[in-house]
Amino acid sequence: MLLFRCGIVICWLLSAVVSANSYSVEHFQAIGKDINRNPHPVYQQLLEIEKNREALSQQAYLWLLYRKAQAENLLYFHQEFAQTVQAANALIREDSPSEVRAYIGIYRGIVSERRGHYTKAIALYREAMALAKADNLNYAYTYAKQNLAYSLSLTELYETSLSDLQEAYVEAFAIDDHLLIAVINETYGAVYGYMHEYEKSIEYYNRALDTYERLGYRPFVAEAIYGLASTYRYMKQYDKAIAKFNLYLKRIDYTPNKEISYFGAYGLGMTYAEKGDCALAIEAIDRALLLNGQIDYDAELYKQKANCLIRQGKLAEAEQNIIRAEQIFAQMPELAGTTWTLETTKVRAALAYARGEYELSYRLLKRYYEAYAELLIKNSSQQLIRVRAAMELERQNVELSLLEQRSKVQSLRQERQEQSTWQQIFLVAGVSIVVVLALVIVVVLYRTNKRIYELSIKDPLSGVFNRRYVFEYLDKLLVNSYGRNSDLAVLLFDIDDFKQVNDKYGHPFGDEVIYRVSQIAQDTLRLGDVLGRIGGEEFLCILPRTDAMQAKAIAERLANNIQQALFTNEMGQQITITCSVGISALDDSHQDRATLYVQSDKALYQAKTNGKNQVVIFSTG
Ligand code: GH3
Ligand code: MG
Ligand code: MG
Repeated sequence: MLLFRCGIVICWLLSAVVSANSYSVEHFQAIGKDINRNPHPVYQQLLEIEKNREALSQQAYLWLLYRKAQAENLLYFHQEFAQTVQAANALIREDSPSEVRAYIGIYRGIVSERRGHYTKAIALYREAMALAKADNLNYAYTYAKQNLAYSLSLTELYETSLSDLQEAYVEAFAIDDHLLIAVINETYGAVYGYMHEYEKSIEYYNRALDTYERLGYRPFVAEAIYGLASTYRYMKQYDKAIAKFNLYLKRIDYTPNKEISYFGAYGLGMTYAEKGDCALAIEAIDRALLLNGQIDYDAELYKQKANCLIRQGKLAEAEQNIIRAEQIFAQMPELAGTTWTLETTKVRAALAYARGEYELSYRLLKRYYEAYAELLIKNSSQQLIRVRAAMELERQNVELSLLEQRSKVQSLRQERQEQSTWQQIFLVAGVSIVVVLALVIVVVLYRTNKRIYELSIKDPLSGVFNRRYVFEYLDKLLVNSYGRNSDLAVLLFDIDDFKQVNDKYGHPFGDEVIYRVSQIAQDTLRLGDVLGRIGGEEFLCILPRTDAMQAKAIAERLANNIQQALFTNEMGQQITITCSVGISALDDSHQDRATLYVQSDKALYQAKTNGKNQVVIFSTG
């Protein structure tokens, strides 16, 4: 038994947890469409959930209240709606979700509007729009704007209302919300109705009605039918109006609230009265007045009922009804000076006439027509001001869009200019890079070629010209000097006993000696002389514009310089060397290169055989 009880407790706890969890914010967010389609079943569920309010988070409860208000509005539970909106508004904090804040703001607007507080309603809608815009809540923004437009039309600001509606329509179209588009169409229907553009009004109402029927939004279907009925009434097509009002009364069966037939009864009452069917009118009006509708509508009903009662000769009762209407208008300063209020004077005139108080009736009627004429003049001048304001607004819009276009063109132009500047920069940079690269390549190629050429004509060990170059050079000189009778001498010199140097001090030291001897020879010779190594330690010097005697002097100086030089080996020993020189010079026979060389070689051989370390000039003798 105890176990069973514990089980129950656990189950209860679990269900409490589950129910708390299952009614999260997301749940309430998701049920919006269900409410629009058929509000009553969802409303009952919401009331059930509200009983266990403690299980809900603060935010979830706020969402619940918002959905409850949505349902109550569609169900025509006007008093409950006002209470729920007030309760929700009291719970709203700065950190409450802006979506709920925006919708509660709109609903507060609707409550104010129903009470005839249009200025307050307009301010609330604007506030909700600002809130929605700040958080990119497009739907809430557009819905608030549609309500604003409707409220503006109630204060007879039709142009502003239509321009706001147009904007709302564009927004709704952009977010592709069919319900919202239809609601806006329905509002167009209402505004055109107030503007006496009845054909348009009927057209828009029918458009809205089609969408509502297609989507199955029952409360909205009823509303659109009511709109159609009202427009037919204004068109004085009373039978059509009565048919639509009756259809409306059928279509409001989605709500169990039988009292909400107020508007249906109101419409029927007014239409019958206007048609002159006073018995039916009074019956419908009395039904409406019992239903706690809207007080401004009630005032109209009292007025119409008074008219009918006057016709029926029930003058005292008629006066009671006029007084009721006047009392209501007195509570609504915003309606002061409108045709609605003025008409009470007209009804009073009719009453006075019926009572035979013709003088009073005349004065009242005169007052009425004077005020009415004044109102017409005021309205027409206001109309003019509105038209001007609308034109001004239009002009500003055109100017703004022109400015926008101009700035777009300018930025495009700037972009293009920047683009072409960049293109030029890239072109110049590209060309420069190519030029620099080409120059670098040319320089590198030149240097490489030069180096290759130098390597090809130089002897790597001594750094002086090689054998091939000196012989080619000598050839060129001989060809150029041919027939010109210019002097030319060659020196062929060879280091004495070089084999011994190699043998005693090593081959590397021998290399060192060859290098040093080349430098000494280079330094000794003149700038135009050409020195080449033509064999191991054998060198050939070409001395242009030099005769045999001058060559001899140079050769002796060379031999002397070499002899004076000290060569230090690895062991630190200082060595001196000598060389032998053979000279040959151009003579009348104008020898060729081979002959000149052979002659110098012969002179060198002579020097060697004569004991080395000496200079010998070739002579044929
Ligand atoms: P002479 O006075 O008759 O000229 O006697 P010599 O010893 O100089 O005899 P010869 O000219 O015939 O010998 C040249 C030697 O030089 C032979 C070779 O070993 C040496 N030699 C040739 N080329 C090089 C070289 O590039 N470096 C070194 N270290 N020795 C070389
Ligand atoms: Mg030698
Ligand atoms: Mg030699």
